Amino acid sequence: MGKSTDFRYNTGATKVPWAAVGENYNAADLMEVISFLMQGDGPEYDAALEAVYEQIKKLDAISTPPGKLTTDKQVALAEEACNEYLGTETSTFLTNCTAGFEIAYKYAGIKEGDEVIVPAITFVATMAYPLAVGAKLVFADVNPRTLNMDPEDVARKITPKTKMIVPVHIGGYPVDLEPIMKLAKENNILVLEDAAHGFGAEYKGKKVGTIGDFAAFSFHEVKNITSFGEGGIATTNIPGFGDDMKRARFLGLNFGTEPIKDWLYNVTPIPGKEKPFVALNYSPTEIQGLGLKLQVARNDAIIEERRKAAEYLNSRFAENPAIICQDMGNDDIKPTFHLYLLQIDPSLAGGDIQILKKKLEEKSVTQIPHFGPIYRFKVVQDMGYDSDEIAKTCPNCEEVFHKRFTHLPLYGLSQEQLEYMADAVLESVAEMQAGK
Ligand SMILES: *Cc1c(COP(=O)(O)O)cnc(C)c1O
Repeated sequence: MGKSTDFRYNTGATKVPWAAVGENYNAADLMEVISFLMQGDGPEYDAALEAVYEQIKKLDAISTPPGKLTTDKQVALAEEACNEYLGTETSTFLTNCTAGFEIAYKYAGIKEGDEVIVPAITFVATMAYPLAVGAKLVFADVNPRTLNMDPEDVARKITPKTKMIVPVHIGGYPVDLEPIMKLAKENNILVLEDAAHGFGAEYKGKKVGTIGDFAAFSFHEVKNITSFGEGGIATTNIPGFGDDMKRARFLGLNFGTEPIKDWLYNVTPIPGKEKPFVALNYSPTEIQGLGLKLQVARNDAIIEERRKAAEYLNSRFAENPAIICQDMGNDDIKPTFHLYLLQIDPSLAGGDIQILKKKLEEKSVTQIPHFGPIYRFKVVQDMGYDSDEIAKTCPNCEEVFHKRFTHLPLYGLSQEQLEYMADAVLESVAEMQAGK
């Protein structure tokens, strides 16, 4: 360790070595990193930081730098941890989840004239690539109970031009994948699972993100676990594509495993379903790899804490029949509880969710604002889609968004905060029922 030698520049004992890494970090830099990751102020904090600095200077004097900062052993270890956790043979760690989607879309050869079925409720990232290349997005209506893509509506919306179906495990609640996989197989369509919220969720004994032809998980800072703020893991069930995925991460080269002897000929395109495509660069850093590996090990405990919080909210909300609780799943369906899906029955609550959302806001209860009908986002409208026409084909989505649901946070909350949130919801709904 610590030698500036790798297969790219075989500089071991040469008289004129080529440093294979940029400028190293020193003790003072590391202190900036520590005080960034562990923030604070006041004399006690300053003294503790100063004591750490003294020790780090000593460590700096007797240690060597890692020699490798980009995609290498730590990234491989993170991937191994994910493989073990997910039960996959290979997985590819990338800069983000959206990059994983892009590789899957490119494998499918998505272009103008093709159709891609996405759920009516998701985040822009799910469909950014087909939108960007001018393919036609077709919006499947949602199951009103889970907000996930409804397989029956997918069946209605398949045409000879459909190239891909993209189920999204919203809030970490597994999509009913069996009928979707069946439809896809019958119609020669690829399935890309958007598992951004689903790391650790299970569907019929399998981890989500290991069932479709492709999947990607997100480790952006707002997800259940993170790799220093950004990162994604992509998986595939296309035979042989696991290695290609690693090459698709970095310009057609699989850094880390194969010595690259002849750069003129070893930089090759990536095989796609119908024709090859050229890879771009989505390499994560070793620090991100280390961060992911550490957090994967905590994932089950995190899901358990979230599950307990959801269970608590459910137990409190059970007293008011106007509140429809988070579905906790069963032996076949194990969610990650990324979000708490709070719904109301407007006919029993004396009003719709818009009123409740406002009341919760007034009581300082944070709700996650960005899951709504994706076909109403300006970027979709400006690309030429008629939102009102699409809305007519997604009645459940319109109903649940305007009248029924909001999302509550579940993690990192004290018992006091959880109680406050439960009280606020119960009080607000009671006010609505009393016509206030
Ligand atoms: C966060 C998110 C993504 C994108 O993940 P990145 O890692 O930020 O690219 C995709 N889909 C959904 C539903 C998300 O919430």
